Amino acid sequence: MNASATRAGFVAVVGAPNAGKSTLVNALVGAKVSIVSPKVQTTRMRVVGIAMTDLADGARAQVVLVDTPGIFRVARRRLERAMVAAAWQGAEDADAVALVVDAERGIGEETRAIVEKLGQSRSRRYLVLNKIDLVPREKLLALAAELNTRLPFERTFMVSALKKDGIADVLAALAEGLPAGPFLYPEDQAADLPLRLLAAEVTREQVFLQLHQELPYEAAVETEKWEERADSSVRIDQTIHVQRDGQRAIVLGKGGARIKQIGARARQELAEMLGRPVHLFLHVKVSARWAEDPAHYRAIGLDYET
Ligand code: GDP
Ligand code: MG
Repeated sequence: MNASATRAGFVAVVGAPNAGKSTLVNALVGAKVSIVSPKVQTTRMRVVGIAMTDLADGARAQVVLVDTPGIFRVARRRLERAMVAAAWQGAEDADAVALVVDAERGIGEETRAIVEKLGQSRSRRYLVLNKIDLVPREKLLALAAELNTRLPFERTFMVSALKKDGIADVLAALAEGLPAGPFLYPEDQAADLPLRLLAAEVTREQVFLQLHQELPYEAAVETEKWEERADSSVRIDQTIHVQRDGQRAIVLGKGGARIKQIGARARQELAEMLGRPVHLFLHVKVSARWAEDPAHYRAIGLDYET
């Protein structure tokens, strides 16, 4: 037995949009940490999820998951370039990289590009074929073989992140591959760090879900204030940044009906996530230059200088 030993490290989760990265991170961590949306390219920031697990030898491990913002092949706008660079930086800095592939969709252009780039990285590589609930076994085996021919992976897993099938094996392997060392985040505060970001993601998801036809992906949500109250409830103040007056009117809706609805759904989800009452106050602000301001890139964990 090795009960006092610990392992810890970063694992970057990479893959094409919609491969199921956020769903996998959520399943590994066991709580909702990252936006899960049927629309592509909504994960704008690097959200960190922390999974704790016990190893067979009695050691404990802390797996810090970096959910990448998505790696797009063509990044025209400044924000997109910053996102791509952040995604690759996350992969480079990590102790290991987990490539998530939608097994039903197979190897698309993005996966091909990522595999090529991963070949140049020195991190430990794992392949996670996801959505096996939708795919016959022969197809899975062929896909695993083809990807491992393109690039040898240390281990290949076949999972359904949605049904939490095969997740324990992935977590055990990720944990075992991490270097021995102290935890990177204090165990009891592990969830504190990304809470503000998480809360912003929850609201942003509602903005997208409720307004996806009317509003482009330009809205950003920032958690401005987080106040723990004596009665164990939380007061959260957030600003929804839009780029034009017209967009502000859309987010507010007729007589404020839309923002009310967004707030109600987000508040409900936050209360569930945090396990206590939440008072959510939303503000909508026209910040035309928001996307060009370096301070905001730092705030959401992206590097502006790319
Ligand atoms: P991301 O863009 O890579 O973060 O992908 P998401 O985690 O947001 O998932 C994209 C879509 O695939 C969502 O609608 C998920 O519910 C769905 N999805 C994720 N994992 C699975 C799975 O194992 N099986 C099935 N059937 N759907 C999945
Ligand atoms: Mg995602």
